[in-house]
Amino acid sequence: MTSSSVTGLWKKLSGKFSKPTQYAPNSATIIPRDEHCVSRKNISDAAIKVIRRLNEEGFDAYLVGGGVRDLLLGGQPKDFDIATNATPEQVRGAFRNSRIIGRRFRIVHVRFGNEIIEVTTFRGGHDASSAQRNKHSARTESGMLTRDNVYGSVEEDAARRDLSINALYYSSRDFCVYDYVGGMQDLERKLIRIIGDPETRYREDPVRMLRVVRFAAKLNFDIEQRTEEPLKRLAPLLTDISAARMFDEVIKLLMSGQGIQTYALLQRYGLFSPLFPATQKMLNQHEPAAEAIIQQGLINTDARIAEDKHVTPAFIYAVLLWPVVKRIHKEILDSGVPEIPALHQAAERVLHKQQQTVAIPKRFSLPMRDIWELQCRLTRRTGKRAELLLDHRYFRAGFDFLLLREQAGEVEAGLGQWWLAFQEAHADTRGAMLTQVPAGEKPRAPRRRRPRKPR
Ligand code: ATP
Ligand code: MG
Repeated sequence: MTSSSVTGLWKKLSGKFSKPTQYAPNSATIIPRDEHCVSRKNISDAAIKVIRRLNEEGFDAYLVGGGVRDLLLGGQPKDFDIATNATPEQVRGAFRNSRIIGRRFRIVHVRFGNEIIEVTTFRGGHDASSAQRNKHSARTESGMLTRDNVYGSVEEDAARRDLSINALYYSSRDFCVYDYVGGMQDLERKLIRIIGDPETRYREDPVRMLRVVRFAAKLNFDIEQRTEEPLKRLAPLLTDISAARMFDEVIKLLMSGQGIQTYALLQRYGLFSPLFPATQKMLNQHEPAAEAIIQQGLINTDARIAEDKHVTPAFIYAVLLWPVVKRIHKEILDSGVPEIPALHQAAERVLHKQQQTVAIPKRFSLPMRDIWELQCRLTRRTGKRAELLLDHRYFRAGFDFLLLREQAGEVEAGLGQWWLAFQEAHADTRGAMLTQVPAGEKPRAPRRRRPRKPR
């Protein structure tokens, strides 16, 4: 993100925010169009169309969340979220190309070609005294909201959002930014601050703890002390979150380009352990190379994202679970099972256990198994094996994984280089390269079959 546009904005605003401001409900700070840098030309046409249509139908509608936050910081948002006083059914009625999704938290997706605009109805508070509210709101014993469909005003909606910097509303009617919770000031101070009482808000939805560290890493902001204090203590609440939701959250955490910073924060606040308990156990036992391979894997992924190269969740999950797979593989090998079947058994056990906290869909767990298996096969180069491996569906990912292990000091340097040269070599040269493969990799002499007994 560039800071030039921010500077312009903050110059104008810094006078206003020189004193800490108390934000009572209903008292929005309104920032007029010439005092902020949100411009309609940077907002997707689809989002503007949705706001316009809702306005035409007599509803209020604002751009909110990451869209406003990123535009104020001079960046380009990855998606646009809209908040309105229309109910999901009314929004659904206004757009043919829309559908209502979610149960815990109902929202409407309005589709324009490949772009999806998310429209949420203003959320209200969860006041236990109201019977109407009880019908639409539910909590578990630990305070977690399992239903959050109480509707309210825009002020109430702001108070229900996670972070102050995510609760800024832009109106394309008057082009003003509406700030009910001090988000502008926190953008200026580069501060991540949860709205309301931190412990209550984390108990309502423990994923908010992950969002705190995600945005702190993404934006390089500090975490306010009140916001930070309960993190370590409440981190175990993350085990209550569904494994399917957790899969999406982990992707956002570790595959957004700041994986290494995010990982450091997850570790600092004890938030990694509930996500990957088996990996954390290896780290606690100082399993050799475990920390190194995870760190290097994240650094490489961040670098690929910075270069706009393809990254797949399969690779990053393969990295995160590799220290566990390696340990269990060794145990099974020691019990006398041959190398590749032992690897299959280890992969099965590790994935089965991991699914309890983070559900990894088959389309990723299958390539993960192949990436791990390739680590055994890449050290068996003799005969036709090396040539055949080049045609393996996941050869490239397996090879990249080998390079990563080399970088992390887990395998002897040189093997990756050999495979790189082998891929590029002419057929004749390949033959010569194979003659130099160490004898240990030569296939075992075929077992002699016992002659069949005559019947
Ligand atoms: P980005 O899309 O860039 O990852 P974002 O802030 O837009 O960031 P979304 O997940 O798209 O994140 O959510 C949109 C908005 O909804 C957020 O900005 C925030 O205001 C609100 N929100 C999202 N998740 C929560 C939550 N768990 N609790 C409260 N509010 C939330
Ligand atoms: Mg968003």
